Amino acid sequence: MIIGKEGQQPFVITDPMVSRKHCKLTKIDTNTFEIEDLDSRNGTFVNGISIVKCKVTKADKIMLGPNFPLSIDECFPQTNGSKNSPPTPPESHFPDHLRHVYTCYQKADSQLKTKLNMLGYVRALPTLISGIITKLATTEKSDLLSWGLTIGVAAIAFFISYKVAKKICEQTNDQIIKNKNNLQINYIDGNCKKFIGDKPPESFEMVGCKCPHCKKIIK
Ligand SMILES: [Zn+2]
Repeated sequence: MIIGKEGQQPFVITDPMVSRKHCKLTKIDTNTFEIEDLDSRNGTFVNGISIVKCKVTKADKIMLGPNFPLSIDECFPQTNGSKNSPPTPPESHFPDHLRHVYTCYQKADSQLKTKLNMLGYVRALPTLISGIITKLATTEKSDLLSWGLTIGVAAIAFFISYKVAKKICEQTNDQIIKNKNNLQINYIDGNCKKFIGDKPPESFEMVGCKCPHCKKIIK
């Protein structure tokens, strides 16, 4: 296959640094190809090295001139061994209202979990800041007094922020549980009215949108 701006590849190349007939790509077997530079103006490179003719695999990085990366898969789309056997998804359509329920659940769940994670870092801040402020405000006082005040204020700040964070943490955990309960109430099959499970719509689509309880198509 001749590759270039006027080549035979199944896509168009407009890069001005690629020649009209830039190189020739020949298939040897499923994963071995031969590439030959056709005396192009800006050269053909394999893994950064300028070549005249060499064997390549799909793992090699091929460049036509300085800017155009060449994908063997795109030149020989039918030879892609890893892509030719995904199970064809069944035609059944997962109900939109249930899809919406799951999207909302997932969004809330990840937001709440992020909040929980952030809390750990935020907790240390008040202690640190109050400590620094007290230390700065008392620099004129004797060292012992200044440090004593700093540690005292930091300890109080730590205690308060610990209490507050604990409270928010509990509330957030409650919200996570509530969100899960909501899913169990709303993410139900219209046939048997049972909770279909904490799984995304895609995983139901893989099995033809069948309800795990009554085996009918989820509605
Ligand atoms: Zn059912």
